[in-house]
Amino acid sequence: MEKRADIAIVGAGILGLAHAYAAARRGLRVVVFERDMRASRASVRNFGLIWPIGQTHGLMHQLAMRSHSNWLQVLKETKLPCWPTGSLHLVYRDDEAAVAREFAEVAPGLGYDCAWLKREQVLARSAAVRVDKLIGALWSPVELTIDPRATLAALPAYLSERFGVQLFYGSAVRNIDLPLVAAGNEQWKVDRAIVCSGDDFESLYPDAYAGAGLTRVKLQMLRTEPQPAGWSLGPALAAGLTLRFYPSFGVCHSLAALKLRILQETPQYDRWGIHGLVSQTASGELTLGDSHEYGLCVDIFNREEIDELIVNYITGFLNAPTMRIAQRWYGVYAKHPDQTYLSLEPAQGVRIVTSPGGAGMTLSFGIADQTSAEMEL
Ligand SMILES: Cc1cc2nc3c(=O)[nH]c(=O)nc-3n(C[C@H](O)[C@H](O)[C@H](O)COP(=O)(O)OP(=O)(O)OC[C@H]3O[C@@H](n4cnc5c(N)ncnc54)[C@H](O)[C@@H]3O)c2cc1C
Repeated sequence: MEKRADIAIVGAGILGLAHAYAAARRGLRVVVFERDMRASRASVRNFGLIWPIGQTHGLMHQLAMRSHSNWLQVLKETKLPCWPTGSLHLVYRDDEAAVAREFAEVAPGLGYDCAWLKREQVLARSAAVRVDKLIGALWSPVELTIDPRATLAALPAYLSERFGVQLFYGSAVRNIDLPLVAAGNEQWKVDRAIVCSGDDFESLYPDAYAGAGLTRVKLQMLRTEPQPAGWSLGPALAAGLTLRFYPSFGVCHSLAALKLRILQETPQYDRWGIHGLVSQTASGELTLGDSHEYGLCVDIFNREEIDELIVNYITGFLNAPTMRIAQRWYGVYAKHPDQTYLSLEPAQGVRIVTSPGGAGMTLSFGIADQTSAEMEL
């Protein structure tokens, strides 16, 4: 029997699943091919932070907010664990406070929902914060935490049951020559295809990727043992180093002084692109990270020095019952030097959609809506 669908999606990371969702909601017959036996790459290796506050104002922030509302819809329908707890950027130094205060002043006018909190107001929102030398925090009620491993495991069944999407795991797409898609040992006939193959730039359309300017970014991550029952993180936590990491804070004039101080005082953080984020999981663990090493050739060996720097920094602002580390891993994402993500048309009817960088969980559903509009699905 001929295997037929309206659209094929390559890759069952979050970008592939979000595109499958967008296409299926528009009434298309969708087939998804994933080469691994289950999603194992960037989409299950992250914090699960849906983080609009970090996205540059304008189009990127709007895309994040559109994605955020799709996430809420999907999470409601799937009843998957999520924590709509917002975020705190904690500040312990005057130059950090200057950036947080400045952002809280200008950002509401740019469409962000955020405010400066004084020390006592921070402590009223979070029991997980170190009090010593705390000055205050940038508070945003918008950020949402999901459990990436639980979500990526459950979304395929939801797409299949709710929309009839067909998903094939252990099925690498070897060639696309529309209407034919060769996946595993099978051949499918489809009208269109969307390639969401993450940081695989070599297998499909290598020529299109070759000139696109993408690189890979390696991040080291850790996870604590489960925290005691009844303890909860509350808002996702970040601190001063994060203010110099996300592009949204680039609107602050005070940022230059903070960056300079970090470079001079603690160059090791810049050397490894370290900042400190903390999120919680469905099993009560805390996910801790991260570092950033750039280059097409990823070092497959982790550096203990980086893990130590991450844990030491986070211990400076997080007050959790246990910091015993249960898991360590690294993740890799694709990144474009200056575009929010890459969308290419390597052949008629085929789109490559990749490299949302460190914001793929945040932007995925917004990007999928954008692709659907552009392809007139
Ligand atoms: C450590 C870490 C922390 C992060 N934290 C956050 C966060 O908190 N918030 C946030 O917004 N973003 C975060 N990100 C970024 C986010 O995880 C990524 O941007 C996002 O997961 C990318 O999704 P993707 O679907 O493009 O890629 P992937 O998850 O890599 O999925 C691509 C899939 O395509 C499959 N594939 C490739 N080639 C083929 C083929 N030929 N045939 C079939 N299948 C194929 C692969 O096997 C893979 O499963 C983080 C990333 C990392 C690494």
